[in-house]
Amino acid sequence: MRSNGTIVVSEVGNSHMAKGKPKGAVIVKQGREEAVQRRHPWLFSGSVARVEGQVQPGDVVDVLSHDGTWMARGFVNPQSEVPVRIATWDPNEALDDEWLWKRLSNAWQRRMDLGIPEETNAFRLVYAESDFLPGLIADCYADFIVVQLYTPAMDQQRDPLVSMFRDLVHPSGIFERGDMDTRLREKLLPRVAPLWGEPPPERLLISEHGLKFWVDVWRGHKTGFYLDQRDNRFRTARYLKGERVLNAFSYTGSFAIYALRVGAKEVINLDTSAEALRLAEENAALNGFAERVRSIEGNAFQVLRHFRDTGQQFDAIVLDPPRFAPTKAVLENALRGYKDINWLAMRLLKPGGYLITFSCSGMVTPELFQQVIFAAAIDAGREVAIVERLGQSRDHPVLVTFPESEYLKGFVLAVL
Ligand code: SAH
Repeated sequence: MRSNGTIVVSEVGNSHMAKGKPKGAVIVKQGREEAVQRRHPWLFSGSVARVEGQVQPGDVVDVLSHDGTWMARGFVNPQSEVPVRIATWDPNEALDDEWLWKRLSNAWQRRMDLGIPEETNAFRLVYAESDFLPGLIADCYADFIVVQLYTPAMDQQRDPLVSMFRDLVHPSGIFERGDMDTRLREKLLPRVAPLWGEPPPERLLISEHGLKFWVDVWRGHKTGFYLDQRDNRFRTARYLKGERVLNAFSYTGSFAIYALRVGAKEVINLDTSAEALRLAEENAALNGFAERVRSIEGNAFQVLRHFRDTGQQFDAIVLDPPRFAPTKAVLENALRGYKDINWLAMRLLKPGGYLITFSCSGMVTPELFQQVIFAAAIDAGREVAIVERLGQSRDHPVLVTFPESEYLKGFVLAVL
């Protein structure tokens, strides 16, 4: 398919996309053009006046203003709340195989420029809109690539994508983890299966900043590991050297391993998932820290209260809960949840202890999260200082025209 970095358009994939020619046009309602002009990559159904042409899910369409002016080009899915995902604002750019190859190689080059492969062999190679490839996530785990295709357009590109990833990265295997709700929202069925080459082992060994981790890409959360927290694990380790560290919402214990490396005497991993805790213990053993790690299986809201009632104290606490606010409708409840665990954690810290606290809800802005922390500090009766502000790892870049690409935020708090 490729020779010396230039692509030869091949027979693979859907012929309509291989040519990349628009199959129709989506006309934007008068007065709703601004988002497209400001390069937001989603066109919502409420902004669509009409669709021209016989378009099928996944087809290339032009986006036109009410008077017929060309605005952008993207992929259509009439069955989605986001009927068009814009992929280019350049009228001369066809959304064909050459385009796909160019975007993939740019994404790969960017990870190399950022020095990521020198730190780890597990990282996000393609982060959807942030790499101008809506509907595609691709994560590298050692010799394997795990992909998520969650728009009909990307779903139809499975074969060319496999071929291009092979040329670009030379993996031993490519695996699809298509069991997330984003696929269902686009009316695509779940798919979890090896796509090419060796199937990944049940547990894959990765290394990150010199530490080793087992990853279950078949059944683990996301594509197996929280790659978005890598930079934060590295940056916050210095706060986690104390006598007693609590890693709440631990999953497979990644923050614990960093804490143990810098000399924490004891780290408690707390999670509701027995399976995640088992892997956390194995990760500790893998790095030679087995005797300093403990597991508690339970609900953090209850366990933190139990710690408070029994007068337990910690030198440092990590709070990395799941997304409490997946939609706006539950935002108020989510904020109460964030306040509750943060207030409890502040109460459990020794004077001068550190709280490393996160929210991965896109709905919760950094400002809103800071307000929650403020309210929690008042209720806990503790003086709290922000010593660092944290975001998602740099292989998950935030596109400034697409605020939705920013979801992870955190603080390192000194609790005085
Ligand atoms: N910090 C982890 C990722 C955490 S993901 C890492 O870097 O790898 C969130 C975790 O919270 C999941 O493992 C999930 O099982 C757990 N969880 C969800 N609700 C919980 C609750 N109420 N109490 C404790 N753990 C919970």
